[in-house]
Amino acid sequence: MPTWIDGKIISITHWTNNLFSIVINAKTDKFIAGQFSKIGLKINNKIIQRAYSYINSPNSPNLEFYISKVISGKLTTLLYSLSSEDTILISKESYGQFTINTIPISNNYYFLWMIATGTGISPYLSILDSFDNRLNHFSKIILVHATKYSKNLNYLHKMHTLKKLYKKKLIIQTILSQEQTSHSLYGRIPILIENNTLEKSIGLYLNNKSHIMLCGNPHMILDTKTILYKKYGIKNCPKNKIKRITQERYW
Ligand SMILES: Cc1cc2nc3c(=O)[nH]c(=O)nc-3n(C[C@H](O)[C@H](O)[C@H](O)COP(=O)(O)OP(=O)(O)OC[C@H]3O[C@@H](n4cnc5c(N)ncnc54)[C@H](O)[C@@H]3O)c2cc1C
Repeated sequence: MPTWIDGKIISITHWTNNLFSIVINAKTDKFIAGQFSKIGLKINNKIIQRAYSYINSPNSPNLEFYISKVISGKLTTLLYSLSSEDTILISKESYGQFTINTIPISNNYYFLWMIATGTGISPYLSILDSFDNRLNHFSKIILVHATKYSKNLNYLHKMHTLKKLYKKKLIIQTILSQEQTSHSLYGRIPILIENNTLEKSIGLYLNNKSHIMLCGNPHMILDTKTILYKKYGIKNCPKNKIKRITQERYW
């Protein structure tokens, strides 16, 4: 059971008719970059609660969440209609293992792939913005953000700011599944891995020197894991303490 505390909405940005970001001020416990919180609203004396990954660094004074409004979704349709100064419930505690400290540090891993669909970009931006020392272990970090349309790449500016700070260590790749542009790859992540398009575009291969993080749409996660195993034999093997893939399914 979460310990519910009040969170004051500082701002709410409606990027599109189904994507929005909420900035909240609340006295929550310190979290680890990559973790999630629980957000709730009290409706008819019952709390409707869902999990949301922090997009901000643990050092930020306010908390930020990037949310997709789901058609007929119980909580997101209500959250979308809130405004600044409104109050919501937020868990004092944070949860989850989608963090850098759960990735085994081994000399075999040089490349860290952070692959996201939609609002699944959040934990990666939080991790990168935290400048965790463990990131020094990787020679390259590849941040892949896949959305349907370019109008859904709402944190591209932040991604480019981080790229400047990480210099050549951070590679950014955007993918659109429903729109062709000169800036992004076109298609679905598993297919773009299967036909080498993603790796060719980045100039690095998902070979045995990679740890791969997957976040967002469960279909992307399942299909990507299938192709990673089929193409390279990459999979987790808990028996031998081999962990090559870390995942966070959003539904
Ligand atoms: C660890 C974790 C972290 C999460 N972090 C985020 C986050 O940062 N941002 C975010 O937007 N969501 C995030 N989610 C998803 C979130 O918790 C809710 O499931 C989502 O917001 C829908 O809530 P709802 O009450 O509006 O819909 P519900 O009434 O609960 O759901 C309706 C149906 O929609 C489906 N669904 C849920 N989410 C989506 C989606 N994004 N796209 C399409 N179908 C969906 C589910 O299958 C569900 O059956 C996270 C989930 C988990 C488990």
